[in-house]
Amino acid sequence: MTDQRLVLASNNAKKLDELRRIVAPLAPELTILGLSDVAAYDEPAETEPTFVGNALIKARACVAATGLPALADDSGLCVDELNGMPGVLSARWAGVSGAAKDAANNALLLGQLSDTPDERRSARFVCVVALCLPDGTEIVERGEMPGRVLRAERGAGGFGYDPLFAATGHDVSTAELDRAEKDRISHRGRALAAIVPRVVAALA
Ligand code: IMP
Repeated sequence: MTDQRLVLASNNAKKLDELRRIVAPLAPELTILGLSDVAAYDEPAETEPTFVGNALIKARACVAATGLPALADDSGLCVDELNGMPGVLSARWAGVSGAAKDAANNALLLGQLSDTPDERRSARFVCVVALCLPDGTEIVERGEMPGRVLRAERGAGGFGYDPLFAATGHDVSTAELDRAEKDRISHRGRALAAIVPRVVAALA
């Protein structure tokens, strides 16, 4: 049996909440750690042009620093009208960091789509999760949640672009969904549902 501890390599508190609440029930035998539970290390820059590349950068840095199995996600919103942007640039789309980041990103996206009619507001959230083990094993899975960009923010739950996004088949934004429903249909929920059985098998 290898180490049954798994580090979730994210400093985004709300994303970490989602990762933890989805992974824990799928793999109750694992001890789930966050970055606050391990010795601090310099987080790497997300320099790759793809979700896969950036998820691997984060997971590799964590396993190198901690010596523990590490799971990282890279995610974002891909808007068809913007040729798939903001994509991997979602977190820093408006160039703002800190507490005002989400509001600035949402305001910029709304402005960019102000003239875009409803039939051209399709978009999808994408999440890639990467597991890296100390023995060099690497496993990657991807999940998507298709939907559309709304014309104004709705709801106070979730994080990031959630108030501006309605999943296909839903009239409410993902910020208005209860957590269990978001996890059931979300890009992150789908990617984790695919990878967690593989994580459990790899650590068995
Ligand atoms: P990352 O930390 O580089 O993966 O950045 C992900 C960014 O994509 C977040 O900061 C959000 O702006 C956006 N994002 C990813 N997943 C979600 C989600 O589930 N809801 C809302 N925004 C999300």
